[in-house]
Amino acid sequence: MTTATTFTELALIQPLLARLTELEYQQPTPIQAQVIPSVLAGRDVIAGANTGSGKTAAFALPLLQDLYTQKQSAKSHNSKGNYVSGLILVPTRELAKQVADSIKSYAVHFNGAIKTVAVFGGVSANTQMLALRGGTDILVATPGRLLDLISSNAIKLNKVKTLVLDEADRMLSLGFTEELSELLGQLPAQKQTMLFSATFPEEVQALTQELLNDPVEVQLQSDDASTVVQRVFNVNKGEKTAVLAHLIKEHQWRQALVFVNAKNSCEHLADKLYKRGIEAEVFHGDKGQGYRTRILDAFKSGEIDVLIATDIAARGLDIEKLPVVINFDLPRSPSDYIHRIGRSGRAGEVGLALSLIDYEDFHHFKVIEKKNKIRLEREQVKGFELDETITEEMLAASKPVAKPAGTGKKKRKKQMQQKSDIWLKH
Ligand code: AMP
Repeated sequence: MTTATTFTELALIQPLLARLTELEYQQPTPIQAQVIPSVLAGRDVIAGANTGSGKTAAFALPLLQDLYTQKQSAKSHNSKGNYVSGLILVPTRELAKQVADSIKSYAVHFNGAIKTVAVFGGVSANTQMLALRGGTDILVATPGRLLDLISSNAIKLNKVKTLVLDEADRMLSLGFTEELSELLGQLPAQKQTMLFSATFPEEVQALTQELLNDPVEVQLQSDDASTVVQRVFNVNKGEKTAVLAHLIKEHQWRQALVFVNAKNSCEHLADKLYKRGIEAEVFHGDKGQGYRTRILDAFKSGEIDVLIATDIAARGLDIEKLPVVINFDLPRSPSDYIHRIGRSGRAGEVGLALSLIDYEDFHHFKVIEKKNKIRLEREQVKGFELDETITEEMLAASKPVAKPAGTGKKKRKKQMQQKSDIWLKH
């Protein structure tokens, strides 16, 4: 099958095409080129895709098109009661809001014909119940809150025609397995299903088997991390904060997203940076939903320069043109490394991901490299070179392990490296 290179070739309808032009989407991303025709043809789809690949539009555009054309031809009989036609399940509150906002944006030329509601925990259910009155065409939901709303009769799933599971791996790893099976049990057997997942561990495969009917499988050749230049710096124990402050001051990135592993580490690091003259905000799971939304909006709009976050920010968040992601602490799981660095270099932009590792991280970073099939030269930051307490043995543990990427990718990587040198001279 040849893949389409324009949105017109994908047979999208005029109101959507007009919107894509306004949004300056010049051509479909690979995932869109493959997913959209299959969904429009009524097939189930399973796709390996990270955020940054354009996966939201890949499921949202054909879903909107189907619902809109059905409504236009009055084929839809679901226009009364607390029905839902298209259900999108997502793992986090932020993603629910983000996906719903994208859908509403894609649908602006439908003149209100398609109603989209987002429901998620951490905020009062009353407003969401009100929004669901009379039903909704599209519902974007986190599993827990959706079950609550079902039990209070605010919504029913028996009219769902299309189901999207977004970030299925994340949903299961966050412990939503039971909620999911309860929800899936309430859906009609006859429906179209799309499943998006960055990784395919056993639980996701089991879900796929259970849920999808002869699906079209879409697996991108390269993950979106390939648009991110990755660099790793050996740092002395106890000097990470100084190195981070130095890098931020020296490079004057427009914005930086810094990952740590614990909620209280966010505050600690923010305090330490403040003492070094750098203002940073924090983003983690102990903060209320109102705060999280405000901080995220402020970061997205560029009002915040440095955001220190736990892995709650690693998946799904779409921050336009984020120049750099910094791993102050390494993520525990190799797949989280990919998710974290994927926050930079979105939608065709070249991004930069830096990891600061001291000798206690050496071994773990090797594991991350091996699992993700990457190999990075260890570098040092000028003025913060490793001291003599680092033995040969420790350094040996720090050497990269996996084979370098194939020669085909090498040239592109080199070009990206040159681009990143513009931002990172040391
Ligand atoms: P997603 O992977 O869905 O989170 O999308 C990542 C970012 O890419 C979002 O900011 C989208 O608005 C943007 N985007 C999605 N599709 C395209 C496209 N075809 N052309 C340009 N930008 C896009």
